[in-house]
Amino acid sequence: MNPTTVLKTSICILGAGPAGICLGNILLQNGIDCIVIDKYNREEIYARGRAGAIESTTFQLLQKYGLADTIIKNGRIQNSCEFRYPHGSIIFEYSDLSEGDVHYIYPQSDLNDDLIQKYIDAGGKIFLHHEGQKITQTEDGITVECYAQDLDQNVTIQADFVAGCDGYHGLARQSIPEQFVTIYNKEYNYRWLAILAYAPPAANHAIYALHPDGFAAFLLRSSQVSRFYLQIPLHDELKDWSDNRIWENLHKRLAKAGWELPTGTIFEKRIMGLRNYVIEPLRYERLFMAGDAAHIITPMGGKGLNLAVQDAGVLAETLVSYYLEKHDISYLERYSEIRLPYIWRAQEFSYGLLNMLHKSESDNPDDVRFQQKLSEAKLLQLTKPTTFAKNFARNYVGII
Ligand SMILES: Cc1cc2nc3c(=O)[nH]c(=O)nc-3n(C[C@H](O)[C@H](O)[C@H](O)COP(=O)(O)OP(=O)(O)OC[C@H]3O[C@@H](n4cnc5c(N)ncnc54)[C@H](O)[C@@H]3O)c2cc1C
Repeated sequence: MNPTTVLKTSICILGAGPAGICLGNILLQNGIDCIVIDKYNREEIYARGRAGAIESTTFQLLQKYGLADTIIKNGRIQNSCEFRYPHGSIIFEYSDLSEGDVHYIYPQSDLNDDLIQKYIDAGGKIFLHHEGQKITQTEDGITVECYAQDLDQNVTIQADFVAGCDGYHGLARQSIPEQFVTIYNKEYNYRWLAILAYAPPAANHAIYALHPDGFAAFLLRSSQVSRFYLQIPLHDELKDWSDNRIWENLHKRLAKAGWELPTGTIFEKRIMGLRNYVIEPLRYERLFMAGDAAHIITPMGGKGLNLAVQDAGVLAETLVSYYLEKHDISYLERYSEIRLPYIWRAQEFSYGLLNMLHKSESDNPDDVRFQQKLSEAKLLQLTKPTTFAKNFARNYVGII
């Protein structure tokens, strides 16, 4: 192995996903020295993109830092969604109830790659195929030891702070001693089959179906690619779900009179465990946590990417204030204080939506039927401008 290289910076950002690369861009614009590292190369990062709905608050944050031009150019606006159930369908025009706010539909892979390019163009330092392996804190600083795969070399990065933006399975979360944090965790006794297909959009908006066989959804991705989800039993495996069975279930659960589901070639199918998870606080001494490293949310309601970018915005402002205000430590406390209420609000909304649209976790058929009727009753409240509908619209479109 080649000899170890030592690098120094103010902020070492672990992970070049939406949280990390957004943070890098904002710090760079504010003249704060930072290094972004990611264990994958650019193509591999691109291939991991998962989300696609950008909330108005996220859009405004990106726009404030000149990072939203490609969303404006290539994204499409979504201002309604549809709920289907066996005896009806509701088109919910949420932007009418939320002072005109909308979603921008733009694939996470493209957004992430645009932000990497902008960071590089602005002179940002990024080291890909560098895997963070150990974080060590002292009174004066924090060190990340990495392995650079292409160079077969160890790299040590010495920094004032580390931003752990390396996702749920990353190094940052595992580097915090258990006694310094509280963990909140919720798992479910069903899972999702997540499908990407080369299929034209089934509608101009997202479709969520509440069905006795289980939840199903269609989400817009682009004019050629559509995302679908199916609720499946916990112990089902991929081999149980042939492409034919997937389309049959999507046809059945998403059915609506006079409507045909456009199909196409399925190019990705994976089973996703569903989980909600929050770590508190979002900081351990010189290590900050942002995005999926700090909280996991089920994809219901499309919050994960948005929370990640919004965390990055507040963390960047926290760190900029710290450096501008002569290293006043009280600024560092603010990040958790500001972000946690929003993180929990998103968790609460996403959890409520998941429960409303999914076949009950209960094994008792009576419970399942009763729950289905309760959910339909709740959905019907979205057909009028009730307080419930207004709050739902604001939470769905992500108004802070
Ligand atoms: C199937 C699916 C669908 C989803 N749909 C939506 C949706 O519709 N809307 C929504 O808002 N969210 C959605 N999400 C969630 C969203 O994709 C995530 O919340 C988002 O990617 C989080 O961004 P992040 O930057 O925190 O983490 P990540 O995107 O996970 O990025 C973390 C980065 O850290 C790197 N890394 C990890 N460990 C190390 C290490 N040791 N050293 C260096 N680098 C490391 C990884 O390579 C990765 O690039 C979905 C997720 C899935 C799985």
